[in-house]
Amino acid sequence: MRIDLHCHSTASDGTDSPAELVVAAHLAGLDAVAITDHDTTAGWAEAAAALPPGLRLVRGAELTCVSPDGRGGQATVHLLAYLFDPHAAEVVAEYARTRAERRSRLHAMAGRMAADGYPVDADTLLADLPDDVPAGRPHLAQALVRAGVAASVNEAFAKHLHGRNGYSVPSRRTPLVAAIEMIKAAGGVTVLAHGFAHRRGPTISAGVIADLVPVGLDGLEIDHPDHDEAARAGLRALAARHGLVTTGSSDYHGTNKTIRLGAETTPPEMLSAIAELATGAELLVGS
Ligand code: AMP
Ligand code: FE
Ligand code: FE
Ligand code: ZN
Repeated sequence: MRIDLHCHSTASDGTDSPAELVVAAHLAGLDAVAITDHDTTAGWAEAAAALPPGLRLVRGAELTCVSPDGRGGQATVHLLAYLFDPHAAEVVAEYARTRAERRSRLHAMAGRMAADGYPVDADTLLADLPDDVPAGRPHLAQALVRAGVAASVNEAFAKHLHGRNGYSVPSRRTPLVAAIEMIKAAGGVTVLAHGFAHRRGPTISAGVIADLVPVGLDGLEIDHPDHDEAARAGLRALAARHGLVTTGSSDYHGTNKTIRLGAETTPPEMLSAIAELATGAELLVGS
């Protein structure tokens, strides 16, 4: 069994449509794949409708959260949420708020760049985005590639969107504890995404993670391309101490990143544990 529980589609900042994502997962030899777009469930229906025989679909999302880091500061934290009720009122409202603020933030970022002479137009960029897509820096990166400013999305991030030159505006983030409570109330399962990916910025401490267990944190993503061996070992020890589910996933974004589908995988017993923890209306799709 090969299982990849963290993948993005064009419903957020991936480059495969939800239908293309499940077909690509099948071609990559996966037995189960999760669709976990940032702050939206908009890709679920298309992915489910296009599911190739023999492939299971785990419906999920990746929430952008903020938490005290345990060292006196704040950290941006991504929370993977699986198998929750996408119609839960609190979830719907929070996503709508987040997406609206993501759009105004992207507009602000593009505006700052345009003011400095970059060949981007904030209004055009926003107008060209699909309706209600969770707008993110990757969309701005693609605009920079189209304008010939950067050769690739990766280069656009490295040279222009890294956050140290004043163009990157923080996005709206849900307090982590509130996000966990919201997903649990909607019957879902919560897994901390790439928790010790230090090169992405400040991370939360082991102590903060331990305190999230009684709140409802169910698992930790351990095998992730942005985790070195020390990060994996630290998270594995934490998961063992607190009896948490452990996952491994590629965090596939299509051609916006170089990582392949199934580059990291989750053991089958962990997917079973996730399915058992879910109490919401939305269960796994597929055989
Ligand atoms: P945002 O949420 O708008 O701040 O954008 C963050 C997103 O940008 C992440 O979810 C990644 O998908 C993407 N990202 C971050 N760094 C890179 C990079 N170096 N190359 C491509 N995509 C990246
Ligand atoms: Fe992303
Ligand atoms: Fe993430
Ligand atoms: Zn992700």
